[in-house]
Amino acid sequence: MGFIELTVLNNAAQKLAIGIDLGTTNSLGALWKDGHPIVLHPVGEHGYVPSAIYFPEHGPPVVGKAARDRAMLDPAHVLFSVKRFMGRGLKDVATDAAQVPFPIGESENGVIEFEIRGRKYTPEQLSALILMKVHDTSCRAMGGVEVTKCVITVPAYFDEAQRGATRDAARLAGLDVLRIINEPTAASLAYGLDKKKQGNVAVFDLGGGTFDVSILCIEDGVFRVLATSGDTHLGGDDIDRALADWAAEKIAREAKQAPTKDPVFAQVLRLAAERTKQALSSAEHAEFHVSMPETGLHWRTEVSREHLERLSAPLIERALCCCQRAVTDSKLTLKDIDDVVLVGGATRMPLVRRRVQEFFGREPHTDLNPDEVVALGASIQAHVLMGGTRDVLLMDVTPLSLGLETVGGAVAKLIQRNSTIPCQATEGFTTYADNQTGIDFHVVQGERELAKDCRTLGRFRLRGIPPLPAGMARVAVRFHVDANGMLLVTAREETTGAVATIEVKPMNGLSDQEVEHMLREAYLKAREDMDARRVADLRTELGIMLHATRKGLAFAQAELDRETRLDIEEAMAAAEAASRKDDLPAIQRARDTFERATLPLAAVLMDAVAKAALQGRKLDEV
Ligand code: AMP
Repeated sequence: MGFIELTVLNNAAQKLAIGIDLGTTNSLGALWKDGHPIVLHPVGEHGYVPSAIYFPEHGPPVVGKAARDRAMLDPAHVLFSVKRFMGRGLKDVATDAAQVPFPIGESENGVIEFEIRGRKYTPEQLSALILMKVHDTSCRAMGGVEVTKCVITVPAYFDEAQRGATRDAARLAGLDVLRIINEPTAASLAYGLDKKKQGNVAVFDLGGGTFDVSILCIEDGVFRVLATSGDTHLGGDDIDRALADWAAEKIAREAKQAPTKDPVFAQVLRLAAERTKQALSSAEHAEFHVSMPETGLHWRTEVSREHLERLSAPLIERALCCCQRAVTDSKLTLKDIDDVVLVGGATRMPLVRRRVQEFFGREPHTDLNPDEVVALGASIQAHVLMGGTRDVLLMDVTPLSLGLETVGGAVAKLIQRNSTIPCQATEGFTTYADNQTGIDFHVVQGERELAKDCRTLGRFRLRGIPPLPAGMARVAVRFHVDANGMLLVTAREETTGAVATIEVKPMNGLSDQEVEHMLREAYLKAREDMDARRVADLRTELGIMLHATRKGLAFAQAELDRETRLDIEEAMAAAEAASRKDDLPAIQRARDTFERATLPLAAVLMDAVAKAALQGRKLDEV
């Protein structure tokens, strides 16, 4: 892939936008040129920027290959996989935090901070450093042309907070983000599958640190993501770790001076494991070789591909479980999948290719370099967004349902999970109490029936509702998820036009494991949740009935006989008592008894209304 002429590009620089794959392990830029996408790499260099950062004692942080190389000599000052911390809180990343060689804290507003050599950095600031390096490498590849517009890819499972953090990182890097798109969607574009008239595609993306699978549907050249699944803690790194752990045990047994306590030893082993793993993708046997002359350790052993496959098989099966879930969620069967696309460096492993082929029952596409497809696809999208001609409409999906807490604690889901984005939904709400002039909204994400079991995205208050009887105010709430997955909620009172909005801020994010956990919980607790929801709804209904009965009694008590009044009072007391407990049959019985007891009151009230209406008409006629 070639160098791009400065003259050509200078004229066109204004119209250019680059595609950036901001990866956990490596990052890369690409550009649409002469009718096809190309990877951006300066002459004599490759374009990959290892997503590693080294913090020297003096001077600014070093990013990329130089940083990764420093990990061997000074692992205590090198950070890998910062992407895992994007848009998340400290409690979300306990496992990852344990791998980081320096202290991690949290700012007052819940943003992670790495403390390195007396300075604090957020994940956004550190990702910005990686983006700057990719941008710089890309611009050098273009002969020094400055292009700041870009499309950046993120894993399909990134939630709003994580996408927001990625946007913030780009802003800090001085980039102008045209759009954030999902990695599997970009990959399917790179394979030009949009040219198909019709079909279903599975994109299997196993990178260094994350796994994503997407089921896409193509109709008349338009992509729609039917379902996604994945695991942000599954990738080639885990295979390296499995091999390194195996080697560490063997070394501890065999080598006289095994420096097992030395932190450099872990890094040396990890890099040796990765080298061995990669060699075993093209050879049946490879040498695992570690050398730390300063400690006197020189150790080598031969590893067979078969042995590596035995160590990695459980990890690959985990990925295939996600594939099954995505296919089920997409409401397709394996037979309906027409194409399978492989993405990510770890899909070079013969075991991965074999198992994916066996699972989907068809040979996957492997024509493009699996490390480049995402960046290439991002550059196609960037080209399209700059007005280029390639009729592609991209749609992604919301990983979890989005909704509002209603009175009583239930959830009204406005946007269902796996809805294609951009999308929007509007629903009408009203007041619960007489003369209520404000409503508090609690925006939640998740599949459970009660708000307390879902994840809070934000809270806001709509003020300025005119004082009206309960249930008379009309408030329209609109959820809008834009093409980048950002959620804007707007509540509007219809008579006064009072408006309140909230945009979900990139605060504490959510890992895909948590998404998986939330989905599993929703499935396992479906029955329990339905009962809890019914209790919540009945409680709300009883509240409204009690309120209406009290008002009715004040108006028509004199018209009722003593027995009926006592019946109603007893039913009201029973309803109030049942409302305080979580016993579904009891609350259901209390509601039914209450309804029966208040029938005579309802009849008297209906009568009074009819009489008033008749009198009103007579008055009018006079
Ligand atoms: P990515 O995140 O897509 O850049 O993928 C990086 C992962 O792919 C790392 O775990 C690499 O070790 C792995 N990888 C790269 N080349 C090979 C190869 N030839 N065989 C097996 N794994 C590879």
